[in-house]
Amino acid sequence: MSERTTGTGAAPHYDLAVVGAGAVGALVAYYAVRRNPERRVAVITHAGRGTGATRLSAGFDTTTGHNPAQRAMAARSTALFAELAAGLGDAGREPVEVRWLVARENTAALDATMADGGRTRPVTGEQRALLDRTFPGLTHSADEVLLSSAAMTAGQPQWLTDRLLDEVLGRPDNTLLEGFRVAEVHRTGGHVELVAADGSRITATKTVLAPGPWVLDGPVATAARESGARVKKVVAFHIMTPPPPGAPALVMEDADAFLLPHRPGGHWILSITSPDWDRGPDEPLAIDARDRDIARALLARHVPGFLPHLIGGRVFSDCFTPGHLPVVATVGGEDVVMAIGGSGSGYRLAPAMAEDALNLLDGRTRT
Ligand SMILES: Cc1cc2nc3c(=O)[nH]c(=O)nc-3n(C[C@H](O)[C@H](O)[C@H](O)COP(=O)(O)OP(=O)(O)OC[C@H]3O[C@@H](n4cnc5c(N)ncnc54)[C@H](O)[C@@H]3O)c2cc1C
Repeated sequence: MSERTTGTGAAPHYDLAVVGAGAVGALVAYYAVRRNPERRVAVITHAGRGTGATRLSAGFDTTTGHNPAQRAMAARSTALFAELAAGLGDAGREPVEVRWLVARENTAALDATMADGGRTRPVTGEQRALLDRTFPGLTHSADEVLLSSAAMTAGQPQWLTDRLLDEVLGRPDNTLLEGFRVAEVHRTGGHVELVAADGSRITATKTVLAPGPWVLDGPVATAARESGARVKKVVAFHIMTPPPPGAPALVMEDADAFLLPHRPGGHWILSITSPDWDRGPDEPLAIDARDRDIARALLARHVPGFLPHLIGGRVFSDCFTPGHLPVVATVGGEDVVMAIGGSGSGYRLAPAMAEDALNLLDGRTRT
């Protein structure tokens, strides 16, 4: 038996229930077991492993933030990713050189986003030559500049999530509950009871909910709405031409878009900002003509040589919170915590979100 009963003969009982098997939920479960290997953990997904925003994430970690709290989370996550790499032997992350295309007047604002306090510099002649070889037809207006910063990171979010879940589930007392769509969370007999849509139930001493974009259609919907959470379509196109060795990423800062060499896929990822708000994960989500027009306009303006290679991509929904700052907060009592609001950056901020959630549950100082 991988679970204990409450003594009533009814529902299986766990020390910790983690609703969500995406990057955030997997990290919560991993840290929980690292902190206390005796803790019995149930990881819950309404579908199966690999269902969610994490599977389609581009995995770009820019270690930046548009407000002090987001920068603090980015810096903390960077430190935690380094610990993960040491603990797991590999966290599925590779350094990637980054060049920034930004309006000259926005250079200081860009520098202020760097979580490590570093500054950008104008690209050198050698860097510019590599950019020209990498991004065919690279061009920008006289008001814009090309800058370089410290290297950032390209990760593999689903690979890391699976690796973390394997660690957690390698312990016989821990369980993955698939197809268990949590509809209600309430307190009963000193425990938290989680009731699935089909009426089956488990109990837990403590619970973390990391539902990603399903946040507005589940047990924390009200609390999430009150915190200002919404959902939005997130789109990243594929540029089906292989990045040359050493190719840098190019962030088009003012358009909130980037071109990232995607080594595992052997192509580029062009992430754009899709304007489709209030699009949840259970709706049919597709890359549409409006998204393609945005992508084509960006390429036509800056990298026209990539236009013929713009084919397909990845699309899903994500939960966005005000200021794009994740919300980690108790819900209705100290034994239930929600960790929501990846806001299109939920891979790179996931370690700090998970640590914060556990600190809140364990009564430790928050990050
Ligand atoms: C196309 C795309 C590109 C992206 N690129 C980047 C990037 O480059 N860098 C970056 O940092 N971020 C990026 N993101 C954002 C990032 O992927 C997400 O913010 C992050 O993966 C969210 O992780 P999560 O664990 O919160 O949610 P998810 O991965 O969506 O997982 C949610 C989990 O909750 C479970 N669940 C939900 N509700 C219930 C319920 N009621 N009962 C049971 N289970 C439930 C689901 O089954 C699932 O397991 C991108 C996102 C997309 C879509």
